[in-house]
Amino acid sequence: MSKSVSINPATGETIASYDRISIQEAISKIEKAQVAFKKWKTTTYAERAKLFYKLADVFEENKEDYAQLATSEMGKTTDQAKKEVEKCAWICRYYAEHSANLLKDVLVDTEASKSYVTYQPLGVILAVMPWNFPFYQVIRFAVPALMAGNTGVLKHASNVQGCAMALEDAMRKAGFPEGVFMNLNLPSDAMESVIAHEHIVAVTLTGSAPAGKSVASIAGKHLKKTVLELGGSDAYIIMADADLEMATDLATQGRLQNNGQTCIAAKRFIVLDAIYDDFLKLFTEKMKRAKMGDPTHKDTLYGPLARLDLREELHQQVEKTIAQGGTLVLGGKIPEGKGAYYPATILADLKPGMEAFDEELFGPVASVIRATNDTEAMALANNSKFGLGAGVITSNKEKGEALALQLEAGNCFVNKLVASDPRLPFGGVKESGYGRELSGYGIKEFVNTKSVWID
Ligand code: NDP
Repeated sequence: MSKSVSINPATGETIASYDRISIQEAISKIEKAQVAFKKWKTTTYAERAKLFYKLADVFEENKEDYAQLATSEMGKTTDQAKKEVEKCAWICRYYAEHSANLLKDVLVDTEASKSYVTYQPLGVILAVMPWNFPFYQVIRFAVPALMAGNTGVLKHASNVQGCAMALEDAMRKAGFPEGVFMNLNLPSDAMESVIAHEHIVAVTLTGSAPAGKSVASIAGKHLKKTVLELGGSDAYIIMADADLEMATDLATQGRLQNNGQTCIAAKRFIVLDAIYDDFLKLFTEKMKRAKMGDPTHKDTLYGPLARLDLREELHQQVEKTIAQGGTLVLGGKIPEGKGAYYPATILADLKPGMEAFDEELFGPVASVIRATNDTEAMALANNSKFGLGAGVITSNKEKGEALALQLEAGNCFVNKLVASDPRLPFGGVKESGYGRELSGYGIKEFVNTKSVWID
């Protein structure tokens, strides 16, 4: 039987290996999820909420262990891993409190004696999830989907199966009925058979555009709905009137958080000519000072990349950009020693057509781009195949808002790093995907929005 292997990216040591399941075993789990769905959908919102309040407690009670597991499997700092677990608890409580209201029937005034819209669960949803937020990405899907009355099966990334099992265990500890949420430890090439199964009614995927395209085309062939969250290479416009300290603090934090592996991270900094040189100087100083190291240490700001192959891919992108005429200002060298470490790197003088301008760089590499005026800055920002999370840094909030409205992205923040929040919808446009997660929009992705007419 094949295994998925968890390797600590800080040390290169194998932590654990987990038996894959066979397609037959996966199918019996899907059938179990379908049986569970029949019962789960008849429970009330209050009954489901009770379990999600308990799940929030389980996350908090096990925060240290879960954080340690995430750090060891994918290398984020323990501090950030704890925050991730806390956010999971927040999402559980948010939907426990609000789902009944978000999904309440909507009366519509027509010629009928009564007409209304009601929201009903669909069935078993498949979630294909990545390793970068190994708890949070799953919870962002599972909590609204299950609160709406669906059941879920998870195909988690192969390198974080320990976290996948911890999530299953957390649901068990919280008292969820058997079959409502299950992990399927399968390789990605088994997804076609899973998606084709009659009981899988819809698929959600967070990950790379190639994975999204593959899953969406299989789902399309079988007429199953998809929601896709596929990363980005989003722009932060640094206006000439920006507070440089704030702009460079946000840029440093944005590019290094989660070891640079966040879909909504600030990746392309488009800086107005008037402050370009000052911004680059201060940003370089701050990136240089940022401490890379053992992710379990308190004073570490960023740890290794999640896997050696991801580091290799990132480094090739950096080299390609330099060969295309980009300027290497900082970093750009693979350090000696164990682990998948990659240093804080700055590439400047970038233009459309260069790798770091056009593609997503998933690691601590910042792309700095000069704009001669506001119009050019906006054109450069929107000159991307992605559109997930973009920002504007300016001391003029009104102007910032006007620019945020022109940015082609699903989430646009002024003077703040883009972050997901259960109260607001989260998702992208263009190759960053489609559909929305979180808030009332997210919980309505996997329901039958049914019109009812009583004449
Ligand atoms: P992938 O997109 O390949 O993996 C994400 C999830 O999709 C994993 O569960 C993976 O399984 C699965 N998967 C991959 N290919 C397929 C497929 N053809 N059919 C079905 N499932 C599939 O990410 P990687 O780990 O390879 O990272 C590559 C790049 O993806 C990163 O450098 C980054 O650019 C982007 N990415 C974006 C993320 C985001 O938050 N938007 C998160 C992670 C990565 P398995 O692990 O078994 O291959």
